[in-house]
Amino acid sequence: MSSPLFEDDDDFNNNNNQNSRWQRLYEHKLETLLKEPSVDYRHSAEKLSILVKSGLLEFTDLTRNPERFFLAHRLLVRKGFEQGPGFSIRFTVEYNLFGGTVLELGNDRQRMSLQAMRERGELGCFALTEKLAGVNSGLIVQTTCTWSQREKRFTLQTPSESARKIWISQGLVATRAVVIAELIVRGRNHGPHAFLVNMRKQRLGPLIPNIKVGDMGDKTTGNDLDNAWIEFNSVKLPYSALLDRHDGIDVRTGAYVQKSAGTNNERHLTNMDRIGQRLYTGRVAVAQGAHEFRKRLFHKTKAFADQKETWGFSEKNNGARENAADIASSSSAAAASATNKRFGARRRSKYEPIAAVTAMHERGPPLSQVPQLRQLFIVAKEQEMKMDAFLVNVERKLCASLRKKERASKALVEAIAAAKILAVEDAIDLTHRLRQETGSYALMAHTGFEHSDFLICCKFAEGDSRILELKLARDRVKTPNVNERESERVAREKLVEGLRADQTQGMTIQKAWRRRWREAYDLAEIAARAIVDDWNEQSDAEHNAGQILSRL
Ligand SMILES: Cc1cc2nc3c(=O)[nH]c(=O)nc-3n(C[C@H](O)[C@H](O)[C@H](O)COP(=O)(O)OP(=O)(O)OC[C@H]3O[C@@H](n4cnc5c(N)ncnc54)[C@H](O)[C@@H]3O)c2cc1C
Repeated sequence: MSSPLFEDDDDFNNNNNQNSRWQRLYEHKLETLLKEPSVDYRHSAEKLSILVKSGLLEFTDLTRNPERFFLAHRLLVRKGFEQGPGFSIRFTVEYNLFGGTVLELGNDRQRMSLQAMRERGELGCFALTEKLAGVNSGLIVQTTCTWSQREKRFTLQTPSESARKIWISQGLVATRAVVIAELIVRGRNHGPHAFLVNMRKQRLGPLIPNIKVGDMGDKTTGNDLDNAWIEFNSVKLPYSALLDRHDGIDVRTGAYVQKSAGTNNERHLTNMDRIGQRLYTGRVAVAQGAHEFRKRLFHKTKAFADQKETWGFSEKNNGARENAADIASSSSAAAASATNKRFGARRRSKYEPIAAVTAMHERGPPLSQVPQLRQLFIVAKEQEMKMDAFLVNVERKLCASLRKKERASKALVEAIAAAKILAVEDAIDLTHRLRQETGSYALMAHTGFEHSDFLICCKFAEGDSRILELKLARDRVKTPNVNERESERVAREKLVEGLRADQTQGMTIQKAWRRRWREAYDLAEIAARAIVDDWNEQSDAEHNAGQILSRL
């Protein structure tokens, strides 16, 4: 391959070939499980438990066969489209956030325990978000986990209501949780670390004492997913609870130890950095999920609009109406004709005999040919193909780095952010526009429109899009893109000038950034679109076409 994007094509293609056989089995399983909608969150959790137990997807596929991991996510959005996003979110929390974090941060025994959990069909949850910190959770963590050398155990504590874990998917049913808390050793805070916490002794058993959970309440969609708030009130944890492959505690001395140092070129990654790396896979899955959702929605709506007859805007029908009105002889037809003159020939009066209308009726073009809708379908298709190609490229690059257990490069991290921001944003925009143009159909249940709030979840899941945009803008202000396009240069210079002017007037840099939010988001969007174009231009068009076709 000419482009460095495709240096790992052999692994990618081999895995994809194996996966086409696996895909049939997996799809069959999904069809059985998702045949009927779940009656409540317990029912939905039971279905995931069955899927997990089946072993069709192993936790370790995340690094051994990442193509399968992403394919499993996409197929789920496709198969579960009509039932809403609850099951897909449950699935990605289980495999990526919970399982993925244990794989990344856990020692060998902790990683092995995942396999045992899978065989028992036990589910896990991932408790990062806190009430006050919201989308900034991770940057800010108030939950603490304090090591006692005397007791040789930790105490997990929610210090206040604002530190409550909130929105935790599967929090009401999970047997175990990965909990992110500040690690305190000998009075010193070592920052956020991940702990593997038993919520119950066995699947569906009672909660461990001193753990309190509650339901976050009804949502607009995805109510087959339980979202919990969780509080820990001096919960005692054994030494083995800390996921300590990279950093941990020397149990003999009670000292905090960094087990894996950074290489010469790379700084040591903190546990939070490593959890952040887990979010990259999640971000790609979210981007693909949002993209898949809008593809399904457009596909289904187009199928409806292609067969939905319209009436009254073709020249032919107008002509037919006028002729019919001219020859009308009954008094009611005359009244109808008068009414038509007042309101224009297209409106049918209540005085007009149905028989006359039926006689005039000719098949108009289908709804999909109404000009504004036709144009929207064209625009959406163009964007869809562009995003398809980009997501394939990003997935391929990420799979290669996962398989090699390498850190994602800066360019890849940026591309993942661009994928997340734009796939979700475009899906929201196009879905909204489609909803405006399809009349009463968009109000109906089982069309998919009723689940479009799924896209709102995608906006803040796995790294809030606004936060990602601000990071992209900051990075561009610090270091302009080497191949900067004209539009990006203009947007960047506008932001830089604004920030400078504000600082000249005595404003702090933080305040200046807050003031220049519009320019910052503008730059971020332009930069993200440039990344998509750059990556797509680099790609081998023929190769991509093959990949895309195999997924349709
Ligand atoms: C269905 C669902 C499932 C979830 N599952 C999990 C889970 O399993 N585990 C877990 O840990 N969490 C989970 N979450 C939490 C989720 O990832 C978000 O972090 C959380 O919902 C955001 O909380 P909030 O609404 O309080 O956001 P807020 O913090 O109030 O933010 C609201 C909005 O304000 C903007 N904003 C806030 N701060 C800034 C800033 N500094 N700069 C710019 N813009 C800003 C952003 O646009 C943001 O979307 C889930 C949430 C939902 C809805």
